[in-house]
Amino acid sequence: MNISLVFVLFRLFRYLSCSLTLCTNPLWIGKGNNGALRNGAPQSSHPRTACDLCGGAECDFILATPRLDGPLVRCRRCRLFYVQTQHDAQHPVSDGRDATAEMERLSARARELALVEPEVEESERPWRELAAEERITDLMRYVGRGRLLEVGASTGELLAAARGCFEATGVEADAASSLTARRRGLDCRCGTLGAMSFEDGSFDSAVMYHTIEHLESPRRALQEVSRILRPGGWLVIETPNIATLWYHLLGARWRQFIPDHRYFFTPETMGRLCDETGFEIAELRSVGKSMSLRLFASRVGRYSPHLGRMLASAGRRLGVEGRTLRLNLGDVMRLYAVKREYGTN
Ligand SMILES: [Zn+2]
Repeated sequence: MNISLVFVLFRLFRYLSCSLTLCTNPLWIGKGNNGALRNGAPQSSHPRTACDLCGGAECDFILATPRLDGPLVRCRRCRLFYVQTQHDAQHPVSDGRDATAEMERLSARARELALVEPEVEESERPWRELAAEERITDLMRYVGRGRLLEVGASTGELLAAARGCFEATGVEADAASSLTARRRGLDCRCGTLGAMSFEDGSFDSAVMYHTIEHLESPRRALQEVSRILRPGGWLVIETPNIATLWYHLLGARWRQFIPDHRYFFTPETMGRLCDETGFEIAELRSVGKSMSLRLFASRVGRYSPHLGRMLASAGRRLGVEGRTLRLNLGDVMRLYAVKREYGTN
């Protein structure tokens, strides 16, 4: 039997045993890829900085893996999961600093761990454009015009899809990506949100797709978004959801554990963050995305490199690697929230 399958069945067994003993929120403490087995009572430690969500000073060690930029811990007070990185001072969204060097360090780490294959990512652009169109269509159920800000605009696929309906502006900390977007004639500013100094209430909607989990301080980012959105304006956040069976099954091998992810939200911790920064959630649901079979094989390789290679080679032989696959694993959530008329509670 395939060793990965044995591993998954073992995790499933542990997860179910834990659930059956009425452990409603099992603290899974696993064997990280560094081989450090942690089990039994949670270890408490004092983080170098307070919890971004509640300011709590105590957290429990959850797991360690080379796939993350430090140990994964959980705040004892609000249960926010976050990575205790040693690189705060140079983090990509440390306001006002040049983020490029740090982003390059994290991308190099992901390549080293074979978590991303640059040539596969490069050929994925048509599917990124498709995903951007789907996101705009979904957003238009709530708002269909006005000034739109994308935080973490990358190479501008969503800004391009928004043209014709919205007056769209992007902010992107990576210099090369924002330059690519500008070359496509898009309004994409290079730098961090905090360094932009947009005027109060100057946007009708703000969107952050797979951005908030990368930031140094999600709370500070949402406070800033709240300031620059008009009352009644819309906020969209899409981010991994750690309250998923996949995390319990796969532990340190969960696909969302990559070096540049440092916050992992549940609907509860995300709800608290939105509430305390002046937003009321109107909808929160799990979402999938469209991808090529080529990218799917590459992502499977994060769990089992052998299986990933087999799928990629079969896809090439059968000439189907460019086919579109729509996948919803239930470990990514998207929320729509409206800015309250009178700010924070
Ligand atoms: Zn906390």
